[in-house]
Amino acid sequence: MRATRAIIHLDNLIHNINVLREHLHSGGSDIAICLPVKADAYGHGALEIAQTALENGVTFLAIATVDEGVELRDAGINAPILLLSQCTPSETQYAADNNLIPLVSDKEAAKLFSQAAQKSFCKDGKVDVFLKIDTGMGRMGCAPENAAELAEYIISLGNVNLAGTITHFAVSDSTEDAGIAYTNLQLEKFTGALNAIQEAGISTGIVTAANTGATIANKRTWFDMVRPGILLYGYPPDGLEPQIPVKPVMELVTQIVFLKKIKEGESVSYGRTWTAEKDTVVGIIPVGYADGLPRALSNNFRVFIKDNLFPLAGRICMDQCMVDLGNAASVQRWDEVSIFGGEGSFTAADIARQNGTISYEITCNINKRVRRIYTS
Ligand SMILES: *Cc1c(COP(=O)(O)O)cnc(C)c1O
Repeated sequence: MRATRAIIHLDNLIHNINVLREHLHSGGSDIAICLPVKADAYGHGALEIAQTALENGVTFLAIATVDEGVELRDAGINAPILLLSQCTPSETQYAADNNLIPLVSDKEAAKLFSQAAQKSFCKDGKVDVFLKIDTGMGRMGCAPENAAELAEYIISLGNVNLAGTITHFAVSDSTEDAGIAYTNLQLEKFTGALNAIQEAGISTGIVTAANTGATIANKRTWFDMVRPGILLYGYPPDGLEPQIPVKPVMELVTQIVFLKKIKEGESVSYGRTWTAEKDTVVGIIPVGYADGLPRALSNNFRVFIKDNLFPLAGRICMDQCMVDLGNAASVQRWDEVSIFGGEGSFTAADIARQNGTISYEITCNINKRVRRIYTS
């Protein structure tokens, strides 16, 4: 097997679901959990993550593309699956036939699904949809003041079932007053729209709003179902950290495949950006930016081997990079290296912080050629 692997710690996923459930119990009632498994479960492997999550108390899944949903259906996943992004007219029938639950932001989308329902062999010619309301994200969704009218239209189609109502927060992970105020404003607009739908005599179905930030920061956002993604993969947003003790699910590991003595003054890798200040030993590890290790970490990151952290030496190449082992006699060829997400190594959040991005992008970018190894 290739040295470079992404170990997916399913036991940590289960742990994260359990601590989330404890957190939600303080809400008093039984709040459902929807796990976003879009982008191959943020790089962790959608099918294995979905199966484990569904066995451990998650009841809904969410994906972004029709193909992602069909992949789960083909593998035998029967749980309800939300289709979070708008699909094209050409995908509508495929989505309906596979029993995906689209988010509907306007009449045109509702109509397309009504037409698909007439031809669909699933669910007695009816499709479930969630009504999407834009309360301040500025992305998909109808205006809050149009929500009741859209709900009436959906119902009037006859074969479209309003199974839920959804919105999405823009700054729910903010710890600043302005951010908190904005989330509260979104919440108010959402509640207003929900009331208007109910006043029109229509059931809102399952109400869901909270992503990770809101799930942690604000109980009032929980409604019937929460949708925390990154939290269940082990990364709480910065600043909101202490409340839910989650653990990283993905650990990127490799092995030292070669040891090389480097003399004082000799350089390592492209561009000769690193020169040995004294005689040393460099370990070569077969992981590079094509695997998803950001090249910007060159000369600026440390990996964990046995009991210590060792600095990278020189530029990260496409498929390999080098570690300065100094005179660490304990490190040997073929030793395991934890790059991130393990006990003792840095986390995807550390890498993200250093690169001006978010942990999501680090785990999503671990390339397909890195085999996922599932452990429990
Ligand atoms: C991705 C996504 C989520 C999950 O967001 P996290 O920040 O990972 O919790 C929830 N809802 C929608 C609509 C999303 O697109």
